[in-house]
Amino acid sequence: MADVRVILDRAADGGRISPEEALTLYTEAPLHALGRAADVVRRRRFGDTADIATYLIDRNINYTNVCVTACKFCAFYRAPKHAEGWTHPLEEILRRCGEAVELGATQIMLQGGHSPDLGIEWYEETFSAIRAAYPQLALHSLGGSEVVHISRTSGLTFEEVIRRLHAAGLDSFAGAGAEILVDRQRQVIAPLKESGAVWLEVMETAHRLGVESTATFMMGTGETNAERIEHLRLIRDVQDRTGGFRSFIPWTYQPENNHLKGRTLATPLEYLRLLAVARLFFDNIAHLQVSQLTLGKEVGQLGLHYGADDLGSVMLEENVVSSAGARHQWNLAELIHLIRSADRIPAQRDTLYNHLRVHWTPADDPTPDDRIHSHVASTAPAFRRDLPLVAS
Ligand code: SF4
Repeated sequence: MADVRVILDRAADGGRISPEEALTLYTEAPLHALGRAADVVRRRRFGDTADIATYLIDRNINYTNVCVTACKFCAFYRAPKHAEGWTHPLEEILRRCGEAVELGATQIMLQGGHSPDLGIEWYEETFSAIRAAYPQLALHSLGGSEVVHISRTSGLTFEEVIRRLHAAGLDSFAGAGAEILVDRQRQVIAPLKESGAVWLEVMETAHRLGVESTATFMMGTGETNAERIEHLRLIRDVQDRTGGFRSFIPWTYQPENNHLKGRTLATPLEYLRLLAVARLFFDNIAHLQVSQLTLGKEVGQLGLHYGADDLGSVMLEENVVSSAGARHQWNLAELIHLIRSADRIPAQRDTLYNHLRVHWTPADDPTPDDRIHSHVASTAPAFRRDLPLVAS
């Protein structure tokens, strides 16, 4: 325990900790001491604004569920030619962007399957059209796996794919597809996906070309504690070279309707420990988001005391993670209330983490609007009929 105290004090003082020390803290540090140290580090990083916790209004538009990669944890995809496969026409994607703008969204996450029918031109046309119609929306979309897929379907290098997507309007990459970057477990859950090293190579290439990203981690598919920390190390090493990861977003595997099944092998307390260790370990990544979508509101609030500075998004639409069982939903007023009752000042942010409006007191809150609400597992075909966001 003496060693744990020494490492914890050094980390709280801002010293860099090694992967071995991170593993020691993850497995042995008292939970609340870990949270306190993470909170000290968060407060030091954000200084005058440390009492603020941020949220975002955005929409995940899942443009196709057709996918050749068949990840075992995924409940969203359908194989090519499957009767339930679909790809949204551009008009539908634009309609959803328009609804999002009307409800105050500042960001669109376009994410979808690896359809063999979609080459680089489809993505260029889509991004260009959104950019032209809604220049105010940040296009924080796709991820390392999509770049690998497009490079295969279109016969381009990673660099060419990234340059062309960026030129068409993509602002930054989402951290999706990271799952777990340690190849032993990555092979178990997603044997057809690119290796962890290739995912990191794509991100490093993107950062070098000026396209930043986030990084994610899907916990709880059966990885060891050492592999959890190794996932963090792989990301920190790239960040040391590029500085291009804006935030780290861990979440937990959802076990419904997929081929991996089983159960989530990450408890809420393990999640909070990982969150706190991430804040201590990532001395080079500014932002840390707690996943309300997969862990619920209580863990979301607790996470703000375990190193997180961001409570994620209202999520006007989400179909992928929620198809596998995540059911947690909230409206904007509730999200603001959750932050305030966790003893933080809520602030709406943009994709770059700039504060758009700070709700210093309840008088600063927006007028309640029930339409600004999470819509999860609204998987596409029934979406329009069952869950209209904006009255026509
Ligand atoms: S997680 Fe993505 S890449 Fe994997 S099967 Fe699902 S849609 Fe395809």
